[in-house]
Amino acid sequence: MLNLVLFGAPGSGKGTQSAKLIEEYGLHHISTGEVLRDHIKRGTDLGKVAQEYISQGQLIPDDLMISILDDVLEKEAKGKAGVIFDGFPRTIPQAEALKDLLKKRGTDLHAVVGLEVPEDELVERMLNRGKETGRADDNLETIKKRLDVYHNQTSPLRDYYHKEGKYIKINGSGIVDEIFTAIAKELESKTGAKRKS
Ligand code: AMP
Repeated sequence: MLNLVLFGAPGSGKGTQSAKLIEEYGLHHISTGEVLRDHIKRGTDLGKVAQEYISQGQLIPDDLMISILDDVLEKEAKGKAGVIFDGFPRTIPQAEALKDLLKKRGTDLHAVVGLEVPEDELVERMLNRGKETGRADDNLETIKKRLDVYHNQTSPLRDYYHKEGKYIKINGSGIVDEIFTAIAKELESKTGAKRKS
């Protein structure tokens, strides 16, 4: 199996690059943000709770988020060649939980691809995405809160995974295909990943 975390600030291109990785390496994609947006759309109880946090630019509490991920893994990950985690983990306790969730399934996390993008570009991308898709949390006020949350709660994971020797730093600024080429090169040399033939 090849299990990857796609890591980066909101707007760093995690969703875009995930789509290309899935296609090239045949991996299963789990985006916790998409899982939550789907619950909101369906009006579930979980969706109602998630809506409160998402609209404030805050993180869903760790215990809840970890149990959601456990359920999604149980339903979706069996028999897959590997998983791309997009938007999870976002805190150190989530990273510890991910280790346990993978271990109990007899596997491990192989690499963390970190997309690094300057802050002004992140804001511009999210404002554009808000206009194009109508995504509710892509407005300037919530974007600023999400970036604060990223700096305070999520960015320490860079060091965490760097110390584990799993962090692959990628310049996430520029052209989508060139960024993907850089990811593929690093990933293949670090993990021996092979593209689908
Ligand atoms: P995303 O689509 O990854 O940008 O996530 C959108 C929003 O969903 C975030 O701003 C959080 O409110 C919530 N969210 C997504 N993933 C997580 C996570 N791993 N932990 C806590 N909250 C999350």
